[in-house]
Amino acid sequence: MEEDIAFIKEDVCIRCGVCHDVCPDDAVRHDGERIPEEVQSNLAWAKKLLTHEYYSNDKAKQKQLIDRLQRFFAKNKKVAEKTIEQLEILQNSQYADYSQRGQD
Ligand code: SF4
Repeated sequence: MEEDIAFIKEDVCIRCGVCHDVCPDDAVRHDGERIPEEVQSNLAWAKKLLTHEYYSNDKAKQKQLIDRLQRFFAKNKKVAEKTIEQLEILQNSQYADYSQRGQD
């Protein structure tokens, strides 16, 4: 809790989904609901970088930064897509074995 607002500690959350099921006020937000917020956060980051003295008065450097950020997010998109593919393979094959493996 921070100032009467509850936050999920993402690093210890096991993504069981129980909090979604039990909250009487339906207060737990789903990942998909955060997409616009995360996009705005990414844009705020890009705009902040553009105000850095390295970029602020140089249109060519600004363009290079935008190009680099687009490649960065395209890479993240590919990582997400490949991870989703691998999770589907995992779901269809190995995951039942994980009860015996512990934390491989
Ligand atoms: S109930 Fe499950 S999904 Fe919700 S915060 Fe706790 S560990 Fe994460």
